[in-house]
Amino acid sequence: MDQPLKQRPAIELEGVHVTLPSRAGAVAILRGIDLSVPSGDAVAVVGPSGSGKSTLLMVIAGLERATDGKVTVVGTDLGTLDEDGLARLRAANIGIVFQSFHLVPTMTAIENVALPMEFLDQDDAFSVARSALADVGLSHRETHFPGQLSGGEQQRVAIARALATKPALILADEPTGNLDLATGAAVMDLLFTLKERTAATLLLITHDSNLAKRCGRIVSLADGRIVSGGAKRRVAAS
Ligand code: ADP
Ligand code: MG
Repeated sequence: MDQPLKQRPAIELEGVHVTLPSRAGAVAILRGIDLSVPSGDAVAVVGPSGSGKSTLLMVIAGLERATDGKVTVVGTDLGTLDEDGLARLRAANIGIVFQSFHLVPTMTAIENVALPMEFLDQDDAFSVARSALADVGLSHRETHFPGQLSGGEQQRVAIARALATKPALILADEPTGNLDLATGAAVMDLLFTLKERTAATLLLITHDSNLAKRCGRIVSLADGRIVSGGAKRRVAAS
């Protein structure tokens, strides 16, 4: 049975602040973020270096706590979860792709992809990992180590790892930032294809305006605030 996809937002931030201590005193990194992303949408987050894009992603992933405000992800208020609860929510619902791949260098491609599922004691971790690697066109690289793979191949392994469990939410932080133009474009084609296949929600941080335009919506950050494309106020049904 088809689930109504647009029923509730995949991401909802209300008045989110992140203030971190530094030697020079407290630094306000996110300063009142309101953002609602409906399930199934693709949103690009753009803005100058240091504007808070990565911090925003970390808050949505539950890897960084909001100092103030409310963060709701796939229907769960992250403020109600302890660290174990956050890890479980992440494992079940969120796939994250980073600029620098974050693969374990001593593990083969298939071991890297299987690892998060093994943490969840998933019996079929390796068969799911095998099919995820096939989805990114890397069946012939299963037993290669990251150091034996090109940058584009490493990022495809990271995408396979992030998407193997078909998460409802995909978070990507400058996923093409370490790749040349053509390789980056191929990696993004792949990411969008897999997103569409699973009807996942995508939040993509990028400084590439052409890439941003491939998303249905562009949110611009500056100095810890959304300056355009932010919260869509719900219009009351009449
Ligand atoms: P972006 O991804 O847009 O480049 P970030 O979210 O990485 O921005 O960082 C936003 C600001 O917060 C930057 O000025 C950065 O130096 C600062 N910052 C990030 N992490 C920390 C931290 N753990 N402690 C103090 N300041 C931080
Ligand atoms: Mg960043």
